Amino acid sequence: MEQEINITLRYNLENGKVGLNEIVYKLKEFRDTLMLKILEQILTSYDDLISERLSRTDIYPSKARKGFGRHIRKGDPQKRYCRSRKILKRGLSSRPRQISTVFGKTDFRLRMAQCNGCGLIYSPLLSALKIDRYAHKEGNFENEVIEAVIDTNYRRLIDGRSIDISLGGIHNIVVGSDIDDNFKESVSIEGLSAIMADGTGVKQKKGHKGELRAVIGLTKEGRVEPLGSYVNTEWSEIEVDIKKRIKEAGPWNMPFIYDGEPGLDNFLADVAESQRCTWHASRGAYHSCWEDGLKKKDSQPVIDKIKQLVGIALPEGDYEILKDEDKEQVKSKYEKSKSEIKELIETFREKGYKHGTAYLENLAERLFTNIELWLKTGVIAPKTTSLLERLFREIGRRLKRIAWGWADETVTNLSKMIMIRQYSRDKWEHYWKEKLGIKGYFNIQIQSVILSPCKHF
Ligand SMILES: [Zn+2]
Repeated sequence: MEQEINITLRYNLENGKVGLNEIVYKLKEFRDTLMLKILEQILTSYDDLISERLSRTDIYPSKARKGFGRHIRKGDPQKRYCRSRKILKRGLSSRPRQISTVFGKTDFRLRMAQCNGCGLIYSPLLSALKIDRYAHKEGNFENEVIEAVIDTNYRRLIDGRSIDISLGGIHNIVVGSDIDDNFKESVSIEGLSAIMADGTGVKQKKGHKGELRAVIGLTKEGRVEPLGSYVNTEWSEIEVDIKKRIKEAGPWNMPFIYDGEPGLDNFLADVAESQRCTWHASRGAYHSCWEDGLKKKDSQPVIDKIKQLVGIALPEGDYEILKDEDKEQVKSKYEKSKSEIKELIETFREKGYKHGTAYLENLAERLFTNIELWLKTGVIAPKTTSLLERLFREIGRRLKRIAWGWADETVTNLSKMIMIRQYSRDKWEHYWKEKLGIKGYFNIQIQSVILSPCKHF
């Protein structure tokens, strides 16, 4: 159905005095008000149309009433939908219905109807708009509130407009959100170069300290892929949850990186290789040399060599601002160490040290994963300094502003939102489009903006 809205605006301008800034400033100031008025016109016309079609069943075939007039049968204990789609008009609602939108609040008088079948008095517009009977907000508003909370500037959002939402209201939006579904679909770890996990403290009810734990993947391109976020949940439980979501079975030669957090020593051992293992390299080498019958004085030089190979120091500071020659230096050290260990393996093989050879071959495969990862992405492992710390700092800072005293579920939801919004922008947008039900059923464009000649010229 096509309709037109005519807008007449009147302005006056001090000739020769007004500047561009003032014109734009004033236009910006009334932008939301204009949008509210347009919204009200569209709603009014939609309301009229629905009432007309439902009351004039003699004119409109049932096809023209499709999707209109859905309501639960009056007094039905089983809450079934009423089959009657014919109404008697009952005028405008006595009290205006207030709805908070991104443009501000609107007070709207709804057309009331009485069902011919069950006698229920209801508003057909609300059901057509897919608004809950008691809801006073539309979804874009929710979206803006959440975004503002995440950006820690919700105060500005509220102060700048006639929007009124309390901390409790934000809490309700967050707790009622279905963001959790985003952390249930299966993930492919094929595109990941590492998995990381860590925890941090959060303040909760009555000053109790809670524990926020997050698991993230790092893609081969160096992007963060949120895998899960939990509050006051044991690592063992988290592991079960993450494992369920991983598509592939079997071991993957992927480092699992953590910062010595207790309970993580064998985390995801079936799919990833704990990065801390490299620190035990020299001890394992000593053992296998002993198995091959080497005396301590014979194996010591080998152990020292391995220690030296393990300990390539990575430069401090942000990867992005490191000079190319710093990276080159690490790269050449890495390549030298790699060839040295190959030589060592060859020597062991020649001397017939079977256990030692097998051990070194195994070790060589993962000895350099942290350096390779760093060269590729700038993430330092196993000291997970840059990325994980930054991630937790960000989540923590945002939670602290708003979620003080919130319950586990709410903090979990909000931390998930923060992670997805910050690190998976496309997923975040998709989530909201789905949630808002944007399907292309409404389009609007500007037909013409014409200046009428001034009468006083
Ligand atoms: Zn009815």
